[in-house]
Amino acid sequence: SELSPRQRAWVEVYPTAIEANCRLLCRQLVTGCQLMAVVKADGYGHGAVTVARASLRGGASSLGVATLQEGLELRDAGIEAPVLILSALPSPEDLRHCLEQRLMPTLSSLDEANTAAAVAAERGNERFPVQLKLDTGMARLGGEWQEGAQLVQSIRTLPQLELVGLYSHLACADELGDQLTHLQLQRFRSVIEALPDGGSGLCCHLANSAGTLQDPRLHLDMVRVGLALYGQSPADHLGLDLALQPALAVKARVSLIREVPSGSGVSYGHRFVTSRPSRLAVIAIGYADGVVRALSGRIDVLHRGRRVPQVGNITMDQIILDATDVEELTVGDNVTLLGQDGDDCIRPQDWSARCGSIPWEILCGFKHRLPRVEI
Ligand code: PLP
Repeated sequence: SELSPRQRAWVEVYPTAIEANCRLLCRQLVTGCQLMAVVKADGYGHGAVTVARASLRGGASSLGVATLQEGLELRDAGIEAPVLILSALPSPEDLRHCLEQRLMPTLSSLDEANTAAAVAAERGNERFPVQLKLDTGMARLGGEWQEGAQLVQSIRTLPQLELVGLYSHLACADELGDQLTHLQLQRFRSVIEALPDGGSGLCCHLANSAGTLQDPRLHLDMVRVGLALYGQSPADHLGLDLALQPALAVKARVSLIREVPSGSGVSYGHRFVTSRPSRLAVIAIGYADGVVRALSGRIDVLHRGRRVPQVGNITMDQIILDATDVEELTVGDNVTLLGQDGDDCIRPQDWSARCGSIPWEILCGFKHRLPRVEI
């Protein structure tokens, strides 16, 4: 017999929120600008295929993933939209899979372009759609922007390749008043302007969520949106007026309640000791599921809209709540670790601010051990 996914702990995913967020974001874009939904890392923990479908319904025109495997997962699910692989894929074997499955690889150099051209030549006359990435200030992937125009021209001479896009990535867009973002835009624009045809026929893109929400001058031909699509703001000052809806909640069921006397040490290391006779509740979710251990004693969960503090060290599979003041909480009740419950909402930002992380890392930390329930 099938186990209910709500047995222990689970992630609820709201595809209609993703669709609505995508539609809202598309409406913010300058005329003619398209939206690529970034669904890498299993759709930031929401499920890549679910997010891809919801985003396409909401107006996204293409999808971005990090790895070949992630691209293949979308194709296996029957998704036919254009897919760009955002990481480097220099091996001929990887490129062969891309060509077969119509996944666009990211190239960073003429050497990589030659490898891709050789792979396409094996298959006869088929032209291989590829994109070129330039480094304008991130110092990660991409060819040097100073050589960008030359690189574009050289790749365009390879008949086996079809250069469909040119892009770069912002390093500091989620920081207020950052000069680098505009320097990166200037550098990127200077490459486009140096092309004999002014970049016509190339889809030029630069902005992530923060860039998209910050300044329409960064929109260009397309934006690559991840975090905002999931209803989260990339910075406290960005996107607040849009009413983006969180697309995920993390919930668990109370598995046990125990009464302990004052002075009882709780969980590994006894970092928490009760200062009164207490009622402790155990929920079966832990750091192996993505509840970051550094949050031990620093988070609350929601029970029917009321906050219940978590106490003691978070363990691999269980965490403990101090339910002394929440008499109505009983075994079998659901609690919300992240997401909306009644009038209250706990966001990934609330966690990340308390453990030196970022919302992106919190979201993609939810592991497959947590079943996903689509609502
Ligand atoms: N573009 C690239 C190349 C990325 O690596 C990412 C994610 O890190 C994104 C776009 C989307 O970023 P965000 O989630 O901040 O919108």
